[in-house]
Parts: sequence; structure tokens; C-alpha cells
Amino acid sequence: MTSPHLAERTLQEAAESVALLTAAQLTHLRGCPLCQGRVATYHQVFTAVEHLLPPPFPVDFTASVLAQLPRAKPAFPWALSVVAVLMLGMVVVFLSLFGALLVQTFQSLAPMLVTAGGILVAGRCLELLVRHRWQMRQLAFS
Ligand SMILES: [Zn+2]
Repeated sequence: MTSPHLAERTLQEAAESVALLTAAQLTHLRGCPLCQGRVATYHQVFTAVEHLLPPPFPVDFTASVLAQLPRAKPAFPWALSVVAVLMLGMVVVFLSLFGALLVQTFQSLAPMLVTAGGILVAGRCLELLVRHRWQMRQLAFS
């Protein structure tokens, strides 16, 4: 059974813009109060939908994300401070006893030690950089 009126899809397109209609559809629409009423209804619905507020996001992920972040540990707990002071004291005692001997030894080895120390520091810096980049990738939430 074929209706003489415009199809629902055509009525919806007419509600968006009559420029989407063919000449025959436009002629029918201009002469048919029923189709004009349906187009007006669709236009009201489309306008109402456009002015609706976006639905609020129902879930707040803040707590779950914060729970998964690593806990910040104290950078230098008091027990490590005590150990560090004891080690520093041992180094001072050792240097006071064998300092003169060490100076003579290190003067001949200084260039090699500086090179080895530079390589060690560069390696640690590279390791820290890699770890930092990995941690930053972990924090990318997109
Ligand atoms: Zn009609």
C-alpha cells in the first residue's frame, strides 16, 4: 500500500533542509498540510535534541585511577640516614689513615678513573631517562 504522502525519511530530511528534497517532493510538501505538520514536528524534535545537555558521565574514575598510581615512598628514611652517617664516618677514618697512599695511587690512575666515572655517570643518566620515559608512558591516560 503506497501512501500519497512523503516518506518518513523524506520528512526528516525536509525538517533538516528543504534543499534536500526533489522538485516533486517539494511541490507535494507545499500543498499538503499533513506533511507540513509532520515536518514541523520533526523540526521541533531536532531542535529539542540539539539543545539537550550532554548526559553527565556516570562514572568517576578519579578514585580508581589514583588507587592504581604507585605510592610515593619516603625518599630517604631515617634508618638509611643512620647507615649513611656510619658509612661516611668509615670513609673519613679510612681517608685519614690511608689518604696519603691513596693520593699517590690515584695521581697515576686519574685519567682512567675519570673516564670510567664519566661512563658510569652517563650510563646512570641514560637509565634514569629510560625509566622516566617509561613512567610518563604509564601516566598517559588516553
Ligand atoms: Zn502529504
